[in-house]
Amino acid sequence: MTSCPVCRQSDQIASVPAIVSAGSSQTSFTGTSYVPGATGYAGSTPVHVGSSTAHHHFHSHSQTQLAQTLDLWLEQPPNRSRFQLGVFALFFTVLALVGTDSMTSMLMFLCLLWIAVPTLVVRRYGPRFGMLAGLATFGATALLVTEPGRLDAVYQGTVVVGPIVAVLALGSWAWAWIGYRRRAPLREHLYEVWSRLFYCSRDGRVFDPATGMHTDPHDVNALLHAR
Ligand SMILES: [Zn+2]
Repeated sequence: MTSCPVCRQSDQIASVPAIVSAGSSQTSFTGTSYVPGATGYAGSTPVHVGSSTAHHHFHSHSQTQLAQTLDLWLEQPPNRSRFQLGVFALFFTVLALVGTDSMTSMLMFLCLLWIAVPTLVVRRYGPRFGMLAGLATFGATALLVTEPGRLDAVYQGTVVVGPIVAVLALGSWAWAWIGYRRRAPLREHLYEVWSRLFYCSRDGRVFDPATGMHTDPHDVNALLHAR
């Protein structure tokens, strides 16, 4: 039987994952208190205070705060927007290389511009900015189509900038992904330790039954990273 290393009891302990999963529920309590009447004096005037009944409604968020403190925060996988940026940059480069004279290439280039810019902006900054980006793309398309010389300039720029952007975006995404994969054992270890933690509400301490170490809930990371 698991018991608290501070008070040596097990009646007030709860598993940390259980506290966190129950964290969204809040405790409420309704009570009534009765205050008997009394006679007092305000200056020389006798004042009678009648008996009163007060209703209390007690609503506790403490469970939620505790759950938040004890929750396990693991590293998230790298954002995919860098990967998408890299792929789009590659496509743009290929289309720009195919040539200025090709009508198909031009249409595909503009279509891709229409897909790529709002998609990337929505992913990064949300739908509102995505709409603005869509309008900006529309304006840019109108400018490019009305004068073919501008489109040529954009092609030339794309051939130079596209590969650089693609290499940087795909490279940094791959680097982040490799690092994330490499840290998988650490995440598993943290989850394993976190899963076995207990909290004693008598002492307000979190403890690891495997090591006997205990800390304040705010220092739960010290238990997670203890070796
Ligand atoms: Zn205890």
